[in-house]
Amino acid sequence: MEKITLKALSKEERKKFYQSKYDYYRTFNTGLIIVSVIAYLSFFFTDCEIFGRFAYETVLPRSIILIPFIVFLVMEKKIRDYRIMVLAYYLIIHLIIWCTDWATYLLPDRQFAIPGMIIMNLIFVCAGFAAPFHYSLTAHVLLIFDITIANLFIHYDNLQMMYMFNLPCVCAVCVMHYMMQNVYLEQYITKHKLQDMVVLDQLTGVSNRNRLKEICDPVTAELCFPAGMDLSVLLMDIDYFKRVNDEFGHEAGDKVLVYLAQQLKGLVRSTDYVIRWGGEEFLILMPGCRIDQAVCVAEKIRENVENSDNGVCKITISIGVAPYKGGDYHEVIKNADDAMYQAKKNGRNQVVLYKEN
Ligand code: GH3
Ligand code: MG
Ligand code: MG
Repeated sequence: MEKITLKALSKEERKKFYQSKYDYYRTFNTGLIIVSVIAYLSFFFTDCEIFGRFAYETVLPRSIILIPFIVFLVMEKKIRDYRIMVLAYYLIIHLIIWCTDWATYLLPDRQFAIPGMIIMNLIFVCAGFAAPFHYSLTAHVLLIFDITIANLFIHYDNLQMMYMFNLPCVCAVCVMHYMMQNVYLEQYITKHKLQDMVVLDQLTGVSNRNRLKEICDPVTAELCFPAGMDLSVLLMDIDYFKRVNDEFGHEAGDKVLVYLAQQLKGLVRSTDYVIRWGGEEFLILMPGCRIDQAVCVAEKIRENVENSDNGVCKITISIGVAPYKGGDYHEVIKNADDAMYQAKKNGRNQVVLYKEN
């Protein structure tokens, strides 16, 4: 299987990929922040142990984290954009680091600063799950700056050891995040290929009937378009297609179908739906298109097909056109089918607009 890299995706697709990664790990990362804040608060007992008494000095640096934590929880409920929420994750982790530095500054013994930072590296491991790699790389490298700046105030007992423990951790975590992003990308691409296979016709590449299920209410089968919007439906069928197969072979027949499907896509708007309804029948849904306009488009399609060269033989099509008036979509397709049947009956190679009765 060909390897897909992030660079091969367009900017828009990459954004969708990052958003999907964030959505997938969101609950996990929020849980991580909650656990981290609880762990951070519980280190107050470690402070008491170091002081050998109630550590009233570190009550403020330990408890103040609750303010940004509450803001974070509110944001998490309201905001879904990965660009904001990933920054919020990293901000709160860095706030935990800065509050730890503040508490450490007040402690009489700073020998536990190194294990403290190792624990922070572990939190960074998990936070990177939901983040784009370049975010996690930047945020994690900033950890080294955190140590450097904190040292100006705290004067770690052994700064060199602090770096020697943390630098390999930071490098290892960044490499791991890079690999994890690629693993998620593979899974993401596979998932999308499978989703496409469900709604795309394998021969012609246009949609199949399953596409309709995506755009209708599962209970009422009503098409989900804005109320009041015109929607017209075209149902077409190749005339005497059996003869094409009989005369030129099934493979040539397939070629004609592929050509016609792509031709239809090129003749309608990108917002219209071209669906292979059955063997040599195609359905086109045209949202925002009045019925008189739809008849004109149908006529244009019919004429184009009649005059085009598909590389096998000349073909013609019969088209039934019907307006969608709400409710179960099977109704409008039946109406378009009735109109198409009329077009066949009238001699084929023509457009017929559905008329009640
Ligand atoms: P008309 O619609 O004008 O009444 O005549 P027709 O000859 O097209 O009639 P009918 O709809 O009964 O025949 C459709 C033919 O389409 C029959 C079938 O062999 C062929 N067909 C259906 N699916 C495919 C396909 O995937 N590939 C090929 N090559 N042929 C197909
Ligand atoms: Mg047919
Ligand atoms: Mg036919």
